[in-house]
Amino acid sequence: MPSPTIERLLILQDRDTRRIGIEAQLKAVPREIAAVEQRIGAERAAIDAAKGEVRDLESKKKILETEIGSAETLRAKYRTQQLSVKKNDEYQALGHEIENVQKQIDDLEGRELEGMYAIDEARKRFVEAEGTLKRNITGHEARIRTMKDRDVSLSAELKEALAAVAEARTPVAAPALEAYDRAAARRMPAVVAIRGGKCGGCHLKVSSEVESAARGKNADTEFALCDQCGQMVYWES
Ligand SMILES: [Zn+2]
Repeated sequence: MPSPTIERLLILQDRDTRRIGIEAQLKAVPREIAAVEQRIGAERAAIDAAKGEVRDLESKKKILETEIGSAETLRAKYRTQQLSVKKNDEYQALGHEIENVQKQIDDLEGRELEGMYAIDEARKRFVEAEGTLKRNITGHEARIRTMKDRDVSLSAELKEALAAVAEARTPVAAPALEAYDRAAARRMPAVVAIRGGKCGGCHLKVSSEVESAARGKNADTEFALCDQCGQMVYWES
């Protein structure tokens, strides 16, 4: 049987472990909320990016249309000029110019067609991105609400856990409490059983002095520390 001090410390350790668990969960809440908000942000960004892409492509298409218009005006002008020239070489030179302008128009129209295709694709991406957010937003918002509720209930649980820890500390004598706090600050569990002559914390063999101190009649007041890792040790059976 563990000594009364060890028994009290084991109760304290149990409550401290619960408190630490709650604190860890509580600490994770803002991170989880931030992760959901980040996903919402990423989905909105995808919508904005697709929208921006459509806008860019449309303005590029407008510029192409203007260029096509000017080239067509030029082609019409050359054709009119061609009708009034008398010399054959002038007629041929204009014919050459018309050919060049026509090539430009063909090229511009090809690019316009590609642009229209790209606009369609970008619009599809926009609709898709919007659909993704619409599908997910309810889930995202519910998740955030759940996390906020969780924050409230965990905070209440922590308050209780802290009160339980304080209550468990009260009956422990100051030297044992100090040793416990030192061990707990290093790592949990602070109080471990010796099994098969080995410390339950570091799993190394404890010295015979430590073992007999842990088993001793004075174990209640003279608690033992593992000579390897320094955690508090007790004899279990
Ligand atoms: Zn140890």
